[in-house]
Amino acid sequence: MKKYDYLIVGAGPYGAVMACELKKAGKLCLVIDRREHIAGNVFTEDIEGIQVHKYGAHIFHTAIKEVWDYVNQFAEFNHYINAPLAVYQDELYNLPFNMNTFSRLWNIKTPKEAKAIIARQIEESGITEPQNLEEQAIFLGGRDIYEKLIKGYTEKQWGRKCTELPAFIIKRLPFRFVYDNNYFSDPYQGIPMDGYTAMIEKMLAGVAVRTNTDYFDLIKEQPDIAANIIYTGMIDEFFDYKLGHLAYRSVTFKNEVLDMDNYQGNAVINYTEENIPYTRIIEHKHFVFGKQEKTVISKEYPSEWEVGMEPYYPVNDEKNSARFKAYQELAKEVPHVIFGGRLGNYRYYDMDKVIEAALDKFSEIKKSF
Ligand code: UDP
Repeated sequence: MKKYDYLIVGAGPYGAVMACELKKAGKLCLVIDRREHIAGNVFTEDIEGIQVHKYGAHIFHTAIKEVWDYVNQFAEFNHYINAPLAVYQDELYNLPFNMNTFSRLWNIKTPKEAKAIIARQIEESGITEPQNLEEQAIFLGGRDIYEKLIKGYTEKQWGRKCTELPAFIIKRLPFRFVYDNNYFSDPYQGIPMDGYTAMIEKMLAGVAVRTNTDYFDLIKEQPDIAANIIYTGMIDEFFDYKLGHLAYRSVTFKNEVLDMDNYQGNAVINYTEENIPYTRIIEHKHFVFGKQEKTVISKEYPSEWEVGMEPYYPVNDEKNSARFKAYQELAKEVPHVIFGGRLGNYRYYDMDKVIEAALDKFSEIKKSF
């Protein structure tokens, strides 16, 4: 007799949604996490009265009403709208690429002027079928935007030349011909006022949770602990890297508490030139319109992932995508294990997509209850 119906590995959003739904369906779950805290990479911690996003800024946005309604059961969201800025040398631009950006770049005022400049630059490039990120970026917005706002940032972020990166990454970047600095085009957006940790805590209410608990140690000691496993860690690690490592990008966050109330006047400022080693500076209080006397900033230094570091971004190039597919084949041999989340599915998921995926998976498994 197994002690638990489900062992859920990883207390991030995927694991927490699963735990919450399974509990409501009467299933006995144990959630474990090898870190000392819950909430995975959406973990927020109070420093100087400010909720600091310890593993990178997370701004909740979605076009999926069911997901928005779902998360609102567990947290009250504010009306934060992400409107990042980009610094390139001594120039400051609005993101995403919109009329404010174009006006600043070319000293123009109308969409017609901006479109004409972009169209000319695309034509001059001669690109018709973009084969990589560089070509895709130029094909979308011309050479000026690529050189000043995309190239340096992207090469720092991914540690690879833009010519060696897949085009799809840049399709995340919105482009528009109105004076609108709202980064996301989704109808629902905000930040949980009490932080993400409190939100995940509510999802996990009434569920057994053990932090500082490594799956591999636990399963060695108690191989029969649960009938089913929901695994949200790295799929390649689950299989002891037997088909080779999947590549991930990691990020090191250097946090500073500053004795001033407002350092940069915005939550997110990107540094798009190559010779500044960090990609962006986050000033956390601005996510919740904080009025504290001090401020906390985080500089983000991307790097290649190595064993012992936190993996953040899957590198979905051809080689790694093929390797992931091979791991998915292996996963068929362990049908009692469900792989989920950014690491389990090796996908550059946003939070809402993770929650949607968890809810979908739950609906699927519930049919067999
Ligand atoms: N990007 C860029 N310049 C910027 C911000 C983003 O070129 O100032 C590109 C970069 O390739 C990055 C991608 O857009 O990997 C997605 O960025 P986003 O900020 O949406 O990703 P996040 O890191 O927040 O998931």
